Amino acid sequence: MTLEPVIGLEIHVQLKTKSKMFCGCDNRAEDAPPNTAVCPICMGHPGTLPVANAQAINYGILASLAIGCRITPQSKFDRKNYFYPDLPKGYQISQFDKPVGVDGKMTLENPYAKGNERTVFTIGITRLHLEEDAAKLQHAEGGRASLVDFNRAGTPLAEIVTEPDFASASEAKAFLQELRLIMRTLGVSDADMEKGHLRCDANVSLRQVIDDPAVEKESVARFNPKTEVKNLNSFKAVERALEYEILRQTKLWEIGTPPMVTTTRGWDEDKQITVEQRVKEDSADYRYFPEPDLPPLELAELENAVRRTMPELPEAKRQRFREEYALGTADAKQIVETPGLADFTEQTFSELREWLSSSGEKEEWDAVKPKFAKLVSGWLLSKLLGLMAEIKTDIRIAKLTPENFAEFLTLLHAGKINSTSAQEVLRAMLESGQDPSQIVAERGLEQVSDLGDLELAVDNVILANEKVVGDYKAGKQAAIMFLVGQVMKETKGKAKPDLVREILEAKLGKL
Ligand code: ADP
Ligand code: ZN
Ligand code: MG
Repeated sequence: MTLEPVIGLEIHVQLKTKSKMFCGCDNRAEDAPPNTAVCPICMGHPGTLPVANAQAINYGILASLAIGCRITPQSKFDRKNYFYPDLPKGYQISQFDKPVGVDGKMTLENPYAKGNERTVFTIGITRLHLEEDAAKLQHAEGGRASLVDFNRAGTPLAEIVTEPDFASASEAKAFLQELRLIMRTLGVSDADMEKGHLRCDANVSLRQVIDDPAVEKESVARFNPKTEVKNLNSFKAVERALEYEILRQTKLWEIGTPPMVTTTRGWDEDKQITVEQRVKEDSADYRYFPEPDLPPLELAELENAVRRTMPELPEAKRQRFREEYALGTADAKQIVETPGLADFTEQTFSELREWLSSSGEKEEWDAVKPKFAKLVSGWLLSKLLGLMAEIKTDIRIAKLTPENFAEFLTLLHAGKINSTSAQEVLRAMLESGQDPSQIVAERGLEQVSDLGDLELAVDNVILANEKVVGDYKAGKQAAIMFLVGQVMKETKGKAKPDLVREILEAKLGKL
């Protein structure tokens, strides 16, 4: 019997609106002293009336559209009734049968796919609905009292529920990471898991894979009772908890006692195990009913207005970076992961393009851009990011401007500096904000000797022809002639082939 995991996620995204979901309290009081950002509405005093936050509704629509959902033309709020000390009204205002968004779909890559796992997978999004957060409970030392901080009570949340379409823990992680990036791109949430801006409950069950033609498909359950794992506060926790749970359930199946009821388990971060909490109530226990104090949400027109504010989404940006800038798949992915870096790259390329058209170079942009893509990959993604990490700065605040960085790349491209001095120039640019030509002039780093120029050309050719270099080093002697030809081309035929060969052999011998 072969088993496969069935996983569905329920995700809460804390929306970074100015005020709370149904009152005017400050929604940015995360670090404020307890119970200072509260009012009678979010404290659940009798007789108060909620007013829905327009910005939260816009964010809900924007997020729904970004994950491929349809917008419900007439949406509404409902009361979800339960008692708990973090919920002063005795009910949570949420959405039951008319959520803001429904029926989404997302196709994404799984960079963590191993073995025969899917590298590309599609997940159905059941719904996105808006609701208010509960207060934060703090269990005092010694377990003698619990403290309640109502600052968080009434914070707007978007809850996203997926179909049970994930087949592995790593798919769930890849999805959550993409969701975080989307929410950040939209500007609707900081989506920081560690800070609880993005919280995930993971549902998991196993089912038999029907690979035996003798077994009738209908005789095997498509879904089995699931376990809902709560308290997942990091991507790693989601992945580990799911892996643990898959293993635990597999063992139960193997000894002939698969889970018979749906249960809720908590993730114990210290012990790295899941622990049974309770047998779950179903929606009937919450006695949902329409919120009488809030009018229905007419979203049809709003949808059109919000649609016009949709920024470019990460996947579209990755694709554009590959096509427009000739960046490799992995490079484009890495750049788009950090919006500040993506902006910087974009501005750098735009500067490079301008430089090309005003520099009198005869090369066409389409011919040069792959070379610049290589330079960006090497000098931005490895060297610059490394340097910035070292001096603890960030691309958005660094002294280095895209103009100066682009100029730096043109110096490399034109062979005016070699890669050793380039490192020095880059560091100086980052530290002083000076432009690279100035640094090169002041420090006398410009390549002057003929031999130097030649060496640089050889270096460039070696860098750009990894495969041929590999062939040569693997013993294919003839490969060197190709490299000599490339250097001749690079130096516009001004070099002495014998000398080129000598330098090449010396350099390749040392590599
Ligand atoms: P509940 O009634 O417990 O709220 P739902 O049907 O509303 O269950 O689903 C909640 C989440 O659990 C969804 O993300 C869904 O995809 C997932 N889910 C539902 N059934 C299963 C199952 N058998 N195995 C794994 N996940 C499931
Ligand atoms: Zn309030
Ligand atoms: Mg449900």
